[in-house]
Amino acid sequence: MSDIIERLEHILVDSTIKARGTSVAKRHRRNPTKPSAKWIAPARIGNEVGVALAVVLGTIGCSHARGDSGGCTMCSYLLDGDERSPTTDELLQQFDDAHSELANEAAPLSIKIYTSGSFFDTTEIPADVRTKILTQIAKDERIQEVVIESRPEYVTPELMRETRDILGSRGIELGIGLESSNDAVRSICINKGFNLSSFKDSVAIAREYDIGVRAYVLLKPPFLTERDALLDAIKTIEDAAKLGVSTISMNPINIQKYTLVERLWRKEQYSPPWLWTVLSVLRDAREKVGRSVNILCDPVAAGKARGAHNCGSCDESITSAIREFSIYQDISVFDSLDCDCMRRWHHVLNHEDISLLIHSRSRRS
Ligand code: SF4
Ligand SMILES: [Zn+2]
Repeated sequence: MSDIIERLEHILVDSTIKARGTSVAKRHRRNPTKPSAKWIAPARIGNEVGVALAVVLGTIGCSHARGDSGGCTMCSYLLDGDERSPTTDELLQQFDDAHSELANEAAPLSIKIYTSGSFFDTTEIPADVRTKILTQIAKDERIQEVVIESRPEYVTPELMRETRDILGSRGIELGIGLESSNDAVRSICINKGFNLSSFKDSVAIAREYDIGVRAYVLLKPPFLTERDALLDAIKTIEDAAKLGVSTISMNPINIQKYTLVERLWRKEQYSPPWLWTVLSVLRDAREKVGRSVNILCDPVAAGKARGAHNCGSCDESITSAIREFSIYQDISVFDSLDCDCMRRWHHVLNHEDISLLIHSRSRRS
């Protein structure tokens, strides 16, 4: 059995690298003093509603995607990065540029630092840049919550202690892409490159320093049917909550360029999840998981062919209900939603098999 899994893993790595092709060599030169992206949105901060700034620092990119392992099957974040590492000054200018977006905002504020990889990976963010950015955040008393993204292999007691010491008593969360609690799904469908025990260790280390973990859960990895994807996401959310994470962020797949998922989608061998599936996972999971764990979802490209979508006419109302749910954690926002396409979704859940999957069309209208 382990032989078969190993062979499947090799095939997956190979296909992921092929899907990426020469896209990385064709990356556009970006301005190294500006972040790859920054945006502000209302957000739930602990038990209050405030404003969150998200910043994606442009770095050399995720080590997992840069290396021979090819990266994850759905991710093209490497394309946001630069072919050379920005200098210390450039990285700090990127952060300043994003931080200035909060100039006119009042507390409570949250800041999410993404790098299209791992903030704690020193090949992306050198140690002195890391401490300077954390110190700058610590000086801004309006910021009550800090979310930092990292793969689990970079989560060490030393770094957790340093982060806690600099940020003081603020809420701190580590965003880690668990994706699925099922090792086979994470490895054979996603090519994530770490196992559940590595994630568990990170949660335990972080908790020692009163640092929470925001687990990212992927909805509908490739090679799963709609029903299997729905069940896998609910099970993963329950498992993550049992492991002691503080927040769940559920991410329905969006089709990113030069990925294996995009290749499958172009061949009509994959389609993103229905918005009904997103809603169903959130509703079931909210009922099963204790209220101390917030369950969030902000579906990227919702209603579009490359994102979670339904028939086209109900997509907008469902997407706004999902966003409202993320802020208030109240499943009653889903109660009045209805559309004729729900019957087709039920049909897919009940009858989809491998041949349906292969022949299904990517649009549902
Ligand atoms: S999903 Fe995260 S770990 Fe996977 S390749 Fe993208 S940035 Fe790297
Ligand atoms: Zn509909």
